[in-house]
Amino acid sequence: MIRKKLIAGNWKMNKTSADAVALARDIVFSLGTQSSVDVVVCPPFTALEGVARAVDGSLVKLGAQNMHFEASGAFTGEVSAPMLRALFATHVILGHSERRTLFGETDELVNKKVLSALKNQLRPIVCVGESLAEREAGSTLKVVQAQTERALDGVSKEIAASIIIAYEPVWAIGTGKVATTEQAQEVHGFIRGLLAKAYGDAVAQRIRILYGGSMKPANAPELLAQKDIDGGLIGGASLEVRSFIELVNAAAGAS
Ligand code: PEP
Repeated sequence: MIRKKLIAGNWKMNKTSADAVALARDIVFSLGTQSSVDVVVCPPFTALEGVARAVDGSLVKLGAQNMHFEASGAFTGEVSAPMLRALFATHVILGHSERRTLFGETDELVNKKVLSALKNQLRPIVCVGESLAEREAGSTLKVVQAQTERALDGVSKEIAASIIIAYEPVWAIGTGKVATTEQAQEVHGFIRGLLAKAYGDAVAQRIRILYGGSMKPANAPELLAQKDIDGGLIGGASLEVRSFIELVNAAAGAS
């Protein structure tokens, strides 16, 4: 398999710095020398520095949950790609549905962030996904296509393989409602096709497409066994060491 599975934890606005460091230490300890799966944790900004130290020297990589597209300037409350790099972050979640719906992020803004992340050697985890109303209206693929193509506008073939896409049906995030394996694989296969059209099949086969939306140890093995599901972006189940490690183990089992 040319794509190594990846499990990324999105801790959202949870955990003080001290709590985040404790969780990161537990994850590092429990993972041991597990190396068949890439593991990324994305704590809140306030915990990035402490978690960077806690995962230093381990296989766990550090991600942020958002960033501004400019490198510096008068953008009160924002954080830039070079600032994240200076804390040894390697990944950044961009275009999460909570950013889109609660903070008004548009496809154009997500695109600027993607280009800035890549310019600064950060791997973007680009989130796309339809709302319940869009799924019920039969427009899932159209919505996912528009979000994916707009987010990746201007991304060259040479660098495209460092992008990670996360398909997250909005109706499945934090709701306990998981997409069926057929629903998820259909959209993942569709996204792979879009990537092949944009970058050619060889590059598309190297780009990882994660599933996100109420992924738990109980439903993960079946989802991760699908041919175009290359890992998970995990919210709720990433906040507790046991469930997170079980998800990493499920990904290892499906590799
Ligand atoms: C997420 O927010 O990216 C997510 C998938 O959350 P949950 O796992 O809690 O549904």
